[in-house]
Amino acid sequence: MLKIGVGPSSSHTLGPWRAAERWIVELKKAELFDLVDGIAVNLYGSLSLTGIGHATDIATVMGLLGYDPVTVPIENIEPEMNNLKLFNRLNLNGERSIDFDFQKDIIFNKNFLPFHPNGMKFTAFLSNGKKAHSTFYSIGGGFVVKEERRVAKRQLEKFKEFPFPIVKGIDLSKYTSEQNKKISEIVYENEKSLRSEAEIDAGLKAIWDVMLESMYIGCHTEGTLPGGLKVRRRAYDSHKKLIGDLQYDSPEEWLQTIRKTEVKFRSILKWVSCFALAVNEVNASLGRVVTAPTNGSAGVIPAVLMYYLTIENHKAGFDEIKQFLLVAGEIGSLFKKGATISAAMGGCQAEIGVSSSMAAGALCEVMGGTPAQVMMASEIAMEHHLGLTCDPIGGLVQIPCIERNSMGAIKAINAAELALDSDGSHAKISLDSVINTMWETAKDMNTKYKETSEGGLAVQVSLSDC
Ligand code: SF4
Repeated sequence: MLKIGVGPSSSHTLGPWRAAERWIVELKKAELFDLVDGIAVNLYGSLSLTGIGHATDIATVMGLLGYDPVTVPIENIEPEMNNLKLFNRLNLNGERSIDFDFQKDIIFNKNFLPFHPNGMKFTAFLSNGKKAHSTFYSIGGGFVVKEERRVAKRQLEKFKEFPFPIVKGIDLSKYTSEQNKKISEIVYENEKSLRSEAEIDAGLKAIWDVMLESMYIGCHTEGTLPGGLKVRRRAYDSHKKLIGDLQYDSPEEWLQTIRKTEVKFRSILKWVSCFALAVNEVNASLGRVVTAPTNGSAGVIPAVLMYYLTIENHKAGFDEIKQFLLVAGEIGSLFKKGATISAAMGGCQAEIGVSSSMAAGALCEVMGGTPAQVMMASEIAMEHHLGLTCDPIGGLVQIPCIERNSMGAIKAINAAELALDSDGSHAKISLDSVINTMWETAKDMNTKYKETSEGGLAVQVSLSDC
């Protein structure tokens, strides 16, 4: 649920990047890789409609070039794209140079494939005169499936082997009360059935490091975001006012320094917003962020966790970070199983709504909430995002996306506080009910509000107005 990747979009950038990587593996397995003379990539539906603003074309090419989104040096992206456009040659998987016209060989189709709104089809033109096709679907959060969903079946088998298989919130409630454990402890037990404690800790540490770094970079980078909207980076100015003359030399020292700053309500609001804006400004400029659960909503969880570390609990360290991320991940996974984390399926409630819900539950647990209160916090956060549409201006993940992360973070903090002051076991609306409601709302939502830039703000404000 929490993955390291490159901005600006998990479904439109990370997913297509992964699909391209998977297609190369397929070609190699079928012993066709050495026969490839040319390539065409067809994008469908939402992937096509907001593909340029979401850098789907660039991500696909980076995957075809053989780069991995977790490890790619961000500074390589621009020169690689410039070379490709200049010479019309693509070094497939870094091994074979073939003809590739960036303008013509990536085809944007307005029609939707029936299986999912984010479809993409790769075609290889082979030296024996034949063609090889493969179709992938980017289903949100950077996850990619084929229609036959063989991988999903394998995942389901793995899932059945968990000591505590969880499909719904009610399962979590049952295990936590039967075992007298926190949600994070149940999730940790499940994780341990897949990997060692050292591996889990290293993975979570790497995730937190990228979250912290993305906040740090965003708060220390000024200027305008790419894409044509001329959106001015706001985290830089906001951070400058908040941090004043305090000095530090690294992201970790920066965190410690923030702990010494003023904590009036207004400054807390500004800090939380600043953290969220910072991550999403990095995301909008194709920087490295953690998909949580998507890239468009990548700022909410780091902002709320940073709030906890810098404002709420100055003694907190890796144990609390780990606890927070384990709970957040599990809540996100409930939404993925019971509804969707794809804006192309459910609008922005599936992105910002889910991230806010994940952050609210996680914050509630580290603040001492019971499992019932944790689920209540998650429920409250989603309840007040229901129906939120996705209408990014110019197809870019900037307006309303960046600011929306700060709103999602603040709502998460409030939801956690409301839950901590309540008896979670008397909640009128369960987390499972709100997940079902979100899914039903997603199905009723008009397609133009599902990451197509054909409705809402996207049609009220055009690029030329900016
Ligand atoms: S409006 Fe929301 S769902 Fe749509 S791209 Fe922006 S953050 Fe993602």
